This record gives sequence, structure tokens and C-alpha cells, in this order.
Amino acid sequence: MKLSDQAALILFSGGQDSTTCLAWALSRYARVETLGFDYGQRHAIELAVRPTIRHRIRGLSDEWAARLGDDHVLDLSVLGEVSETALTRDSEIAMQANGLPNTFVPGRNLLFLTLAAALAYRRGMTVLVGGMCETDFSGYPDCRDETLRALQSALQLGMGSRVSIETPLMWLDKAATWRLADQLGGEALIDLIRTETHTCYLGERSQLHAWGYGCGRCPACELRMNGYQHFKATQSID
Ligand code: ZN
Repeated sequence: MKLSDQAALILFSGGQDSTTCLAWALSRYARVETLGFDYGQRHAIELAVRPTIRHRIRGLSDEWAARLGDDHVLDLSVLGEVSETALTRDSEIAMQANGLPNTFVPGRNLLFLTLAAALAYRRGMTVLVGGMCETDFSGYPDCRDETLRALQSALQLGMGSRVSIETPLMWLDKAATWRLADQLGGEALIDLIRTETHTCYLGERSQLHAWGYGCGRCPACELRMNGYQHFKATQSID
């Protein structure tokens, strides 16, 4: 893969998708920094696993270790104040009348990327990387490619900068996301993602399954589990 001399800021939550994005960016950009948001999410365990993932991913490659720069965490508790959702409140995960799950935090990715662009601007970074995906998406309108292309235009106009938004997982399903991790970092990266990243909406981490930790029943766990099983099934065919 050709190395770009640009610097990239990764929206890094500590989940499977953003960890895969981190490895993707480390393979591609000369300098990579990470950004997390604390918005009172009930799966706050995600934030807790971030330093371990950063530490372990450095150990996978000397080049990656040299490229991985600072970590940033922004307090966005205001997001919990303005939106009542199952991700920030202790309530059942369910579908709403408008067809969106009640885990939807309205405007979350718009806010995340706008703040990321402001931070990137200050630190001389021109690429933002996020794990948004249309393929497996739960209908979240702020994960759509069209939304992100429009936001990129708005940020370029509004900041007078050439910032770009890269979404390497946009057209991948979960099995393909595991496959991408395999291509980027082999078995060692798969093992890191399996054992260190967190995806479960309920924050369950008491039992390690083949696909990682989680309750195995929430929508996020189901996607991760089914994707891993499909990845392993097709991996043995190759
Ligand atoms: Zn779960």
C-alpha cells in the first residue's frame, strides 16, 4: 500500500469497526492520531478499552508504532442532555415508529465529524477516518455515504480547508470487515480485535466467545457474531 504523507485523525471508539479503521489508517498515512468522545454512552466500557488497543496495535508493527501519535478524548456529555436514546439511557433497545432503533442518537456523527474537523484543522491534519457503514447499518441516516459526502462539502466550505472524510468500511458487511482486518494485520490483528475491542450495546464483558466479548443477543453483538462466523467459514474455503 502506498504511504500518503498526509496526517489522519481517526474517530476511535474502541469498537471493532473503529479499530479496523485505525489499522487501515496506520497502513496508509504517515501520521495518525485518535479521537474518542465521552457522551455518557451506556457502553462506556468502549472508552476504557481504547488505551489497551492503542498499546497492543503498536506492538504489531514497528511502522505502525512510529506512525501512531496522540490520543484525544472530548467530553460530549451535552449530547446526553439533548437526546433521550437507549444508548445514553438505561432503557430497552427497540424499534421506534419511524423505523429507526431507539439507539439512534440524532446528529451524533455530524457532531463528531465537525468537532474532529476542528481538531484536525488545529493540528494540521487533512483526513478524517470513520467506521460508518451503509451495508449493515441499522438505518442510521448519519451513516449514509450521501450524508458524509454532503458533510465533507460543508466542512470544506465552512472551514476553508481541504479536509476529507474517509470511510473504508462504507460498503463492507461485517464478514468483510473481519476480512479487511485479516489483510491488514493477519491473525495478530484479528486476535487483538476479538479480545480487546468492544461492540456490545449492553457493555457485557464477562464471557469471551469466538467472536469476542458481548451478550450475544443485542443487535450489535448479533452483527459481530454473524459476521465473524461467516468470515471464518469463508476463510477456510480460500
Ligand atoms: Zn450485546
